Amino acid sequence: MAKRILITGAAGFLGSHLCDRFIKEGFQVIGMDNLITGDLKNIEHLVKEKNFEFYHHDITKFVHVPGKLDYILHFASPASPIDYLKIPIQTLKVGSFGTHHCLGLAKEKNARILIASTSEVYGDPQVHPQNEDYYGNVNTIGPRGVYDEAKRFQESITMAYHRFHGLETRIARIFNTYGPRMRLNDGRVIPAFIGQALRGEDLTVFGDGSQTRSFCYVDDQVEGIYKLLLSEYSEPVNIGNPDEISILDFAKEIIRLTGTNQKIVFRDLPQDDPMQRQPDITRAKEILGWEPKVDRAEGMRITYDYFRSMSKEELDKREH
Ligand code: NAD
Ligand code: UDP
Repeated sequence: MAKRILITGAAGFLGSHLCDRFIKEGFQVIGMDNLITGDLKNIEHLVKEKNFEFYHHDITKFVHVPGKLDYILHFASPASPIDYLKIPIQTLKVGSFGTHHCLGLAKEKNARILIASTSEVYGDPQVHPQNEDYYGNVNTIGPRGVYDEAKRFQESITMAYHRFHGLETRIARIFNTYGPRMRLNDGRVIPAFIGQALRGEDLTVFGDGSQTRSFCYVDDQVEGIYKLLLSEYSEPVNIGNPDEISILDFAKEIIRLTGTNQKIVFRDLPQDDPMQRQPDITRAKEILGWEPKVDRAEGMRITYDYFRSMSKEELDKREH
């Protein structure tokens, strides 16, 4: 009998790719989303699938799913700094109440649950690259605290359910991931730069651009999550691509990729913006036999093609 999986945040960027992957693997997939930062367009191609159901639901309210469940992937949460600064209370609620509801559901159904944690639990890290044993450096009361602390609480309550109730839990610490179906205007650096290049605008580098990030292509991320879910490992695992680049160099790469001659302009660095970020993926390699395969040049070409195919109206739509 096919395994049944609930994916929260299904209409978002990562959630929709995970739906695709689990449908492909023969699972019955239930997608759940309240569409606060997601878009039904990301999963409209799945509506015809007999193994796919969609529930429009806010998981900060009690979560009920009829029938058996073997797995839960809990991915619902705003993920872009602009989004979670705009909806800070919802961000805290989905990471806390939303996670509590998902864990309660997992316990009721005796299902294994994987939660989407983040490199943000390391805050502005003083250890580089970041391994899973680092406790992090988070400003609890800063503007990003609403996301970082919600995710840290999420990890704590997940481990409590694991230790106290014996629930089968998995924790993926996801590092910056990109690819098709990111929202053009969600404010994250890749859609921001590509959108600017396509509209003929200057690229906005925050600060002096010396801060670093390490970008992971979505297919690699999905493969890592798939392997982690099916593994027997319940401690956190970093999933990301260690190929690190400064944001200024990345802006120059985008200009080369898009063949435009946009200028780079400098804007204020947002408060508590982490100055460096690179995953240590030793654990993922050892435990999951996983490492990323798609390099930035290839991943960015695919992502650029996705955004380039958008209409002028879509490109000109502003949210912020
Ligand atoms: P996204 O905004 O595209 O997707 C999040 C989805 O969750 C959206 O469809 C949104 O509508 C839904 N959602 C939010 N609150 C909800 C609620 N209360 N009830 C039901 N649905 C709700 O973001 P994403 O990039 O796909 O991120 C997905 C998950 O992965 C998040 O938990 C995020 O913290 C985590 N993550 C992502 C990255 C990344 O680089 N993309 C990095 C680290 C962690
Ligand atoms: N950034 C930037 N210009 C933009 C958007 C983002 O320079 O238009 C920077 C941002 O300050 C951060 C990096 O790019 O240092 C990555 O930002 P993003 O929002 O994508 O992710 P996060 O900060 O959560 O890693």
